[in-house]
Amino acid sequence: MEKTHSKVWEQCLTIIKDNVTPQSFKTWFEPIKPIKLKDNVLTIQVPSQFVYEYLEEHYITLLKKAIKRELGSDSRLEYSIVMENTRNAKPYTVKIPGTNKQAAKGQPVNIPIDINKNPIRNPFIIPGLKKVDVAPQLNPNYSFENFIEGDCNRLARSAGFAVAQKPGGTSFNPLFIYGGVGLGKTHLAHAIGLEIKNNFPNKTVLYLSSEKFTTQFIDATKNNTQNDFINFYQMIDVLIVDDVQFLAKKEKTQDVFFHIFNHLHQNSKQLVFTCDKPPVEIEGMEQRLLSRFKWGLAADLQIPGLETRIAILQRKIYTEGLDISSDVVEYLAYSINSNVRELEGALISLVAQSSLNKKAITLELAKQMIDKFVKNTAREVSIDYIQKVVCDYFGLPIEMIKSKTRKREVVQARQITMYFAKSFTKSSLASIGLQCGGKDHATVLHACKTVNNLIDTDKRFKGYILELEKKITLSNYQ
Ligand code: ADP
Ligand code: MG
Repeated sequence: MEKTHSKVWEQCLTIIKDNVTPQSFKTWFEPIKPIKLKDNVLTIQVPSQFVYEYLEEHYITLLKKAIKRELGSDSRLEYSIVMENTRNAKPYTVKIPGTNKQAAKGQPVNIPIDINKNPIRNPFIIPGLKKVDVAPQLNPNYSFENFIEGDCNRLARSAGFAVAQKPGGTSFNPLFIYGGVGLGKTHLAHAIGLEIKNNFPNKTVLYLSSEKFTTQFIDATKNNTQNDFINFYQMIDVLIVDDVQFLAKKEKTQDVFFHIFNHLHQNSKQLVFTCDKPPVEIEGMEQRLLSRFKWGLAADLQIPGLETRIAILQRKIYTEGLDISSDVVEYLAYSINSNVRELEGALISLVAQSSLNKKAITLELAKQMIDKFVKNTAREVSIDYIQKVVCDYFGLPIEMIKSKTRKREVVQARQITMYFAKSFTKSSLASIGLQCGGKDHATVLHACKTVNNLIDTDKRFKGYILELEKKITLSNYQ
């Protein structure tokens, strides 16, 4: 009996159904229509470019297997993509994934487009929003599991987690996460989205940057589809907008954002925003929008402390399957105290250097690398690092310097630490004191004077200071 395209596809679907979750099947495979079978080439129609790319990325092996089973090894699959923009309709070029290697390498060909109007054009070109999972925009690596908790992020993290257990149902709406670059705003935003998707697979979670939102809005204005744009956003259950500071000075976009915000908020949908500064410091933002940012909870991310930096590195090393000794990890964590992105950057450079030069990852290599790294970014020495060098030098445990003990040798090491902290960091006297045994600024000032006096009067002491200075500056400034 002659095989028809519908029969073949029906058979394929039964194979596919056994291999994917019901949710995925419904989302990705049900909307596909078989349209042609000719010369062992099956053409299927997919609703959008996005769906096509998603299938290619996630299900190509399964699709190949199913088609091969039905049509044999010289068979092929072609896609026809429904384009929504009828005015600009022109042949769309896609590569054809083959069911055998030969075909997969084939030249791109023009595939005719079926023009099919959708009731709502959404800016992600996902027809029939209800059927489609928008969560692929979330990066699975940016999970809560991979987000190390520390004093620096406790509030933001736990608020994010609470929101993910009960989206729209906590008083953290909107949840406004702010902090400097590389401190984990994007990571946390994804983690919230992923966790919600995990807990509530049927909820529509949308993550995007405010820039993308702006571009989509401008496009919608150009194409006269603002209503579709607004309708699309009003259908979202959880809207996560990263880097809202980029909405500043964009009045029209702020206006539409405001309306979407109101609609979602009134319907108890969850809103999550990130920003590089707290609401009060954003300039060029409409007052009514700023006041809404403050309706829920504004939680900040700070620079992680030493222990958290070590834990972050260890987590990264574990997930990447690396093997790096703890002295190297500690050295990196001590030396890089600007933000997490730089910390990860240093680790990646180190791994790259070691594999390029076929050298083991040793403390020596780490030091060389940090020297270069630090030179490039003109970093200041951290108090943590000064404490470490001084303590190592005098053979004291680092906790002693941070404690209140008045033991003579500790008092002197602490004074030296304060002296170097004053010379080599921009920290205030008060902050130096706080980090060195909870002392006040007068104690720090006194310590600096004492050390200066001793340098002038005690040759041996001066020797210590010079040696220490070398150690501190060598590893950080060269
Ligand atoms: P931001 O958006 O604030 O500029 P990102 O979220 O892009 O920062 O974070 C930069 C990098 O640091 C990412 O790779 C992220 O995974 C990592 N990172 C930040 N904070 C943490 C944390 N607490 N635990 C683990 N990784 C983190
Ligand atoms: Mg970011």
